[in-house]
Amino acid sequence: MGQLFLKKVRKSFGHFEVIKGVDLEVQDGEFVVFVGPSGCGKSTLLRMIAGLDDTTDGDIVIDAERVNDKPPVERGIAMVFQSYALYPHMSVFENIAFPLRVEGLPEETIREKVGAVAKILQLDQRLQQRPGMLSGGQRQRVAIGRAIVREPKIFLFDEPLSNLDAALRADMRIELTKLHRDLQATMIYVTHDQIEAMTMADRIVVLNAGNIAQVGAPLELYHKPQNTFVAGFIGNPK
Ligand code: ADP
Ligand code: MG
Repeated sequence: MGQLFLKKVRKSFGHFEVIKGVDLEVQDGEFVVFVGPSGCGKSTLLRMIAGLDDTTDGDIVIDAERVNDKPPVERGIAMVFQSYALYPHMSVFENIAFPLRVEGLPEETIREKVGAVAKILQLDQRLQQRPGMLSGGQRQRVAIGRAIVREPKIFLFDEPLSNLDAALRADMRIELTKLHRDLQATMIYVTHDQIEAMTMADRIVVLNAGNIAQVGAPLELYHKPQNTFVAGFIGNPK
């Protein structure tokens, strides 16, 4: 299960209100994309869902349980960032295994889980190499592998492809879509790339200055943007 409800979620930094009462329901297995201009609060929203930032007000509910006071590791969530912080001195295997070592799982279980993840991400021939030997796309896959290996219910991606060149981004889009199909996990994906949003999303959430401007299926937003702001991001340019 990986159902997520946000209920009137707010966040202020000092007197500056960054998230202004966001309501959203994400169904188990859904792929939801957040788009919106720089500074509109996309990362802040993800960080609150992950538990890396406190909410100022409102509820975050995962599988019918309010998780506002739960620490990140107990929320069943994995977050993948754009600057994937791999350990350069460790092999790909050890980078992926790291969260399982922290949990103290037995060696045999770790081998099985890392092996399965490496297969999904086509890293099985790379497990003994260090990250420095890999391409940008392969490094990003190692970072995703480290997130997957803990079998989270919900994945949060914060512009994970924005450091990659256009060709690699296109490949990774296909891979992530496949990954979503294979894992059937809930995914929330932040991007400012309209093609990513249109091709990957079940639904797109357009954020504007801490509010949701519109939520809908890609084609719905494209053909029927509710206002010029949404049209500027997703809509039919005609
Ligand atoms: P986005 O990811 O959409 O670009 P962010 O969520 O990173 O936007 O930031 C939203 C707003 O909150 C920005 O104006 C940013 O400067 C501000 N902000 C983010 N984190 C902090 C913080 N720790 N302290 C103060 N202001 C912050
Ligand atoms: Mg951001």
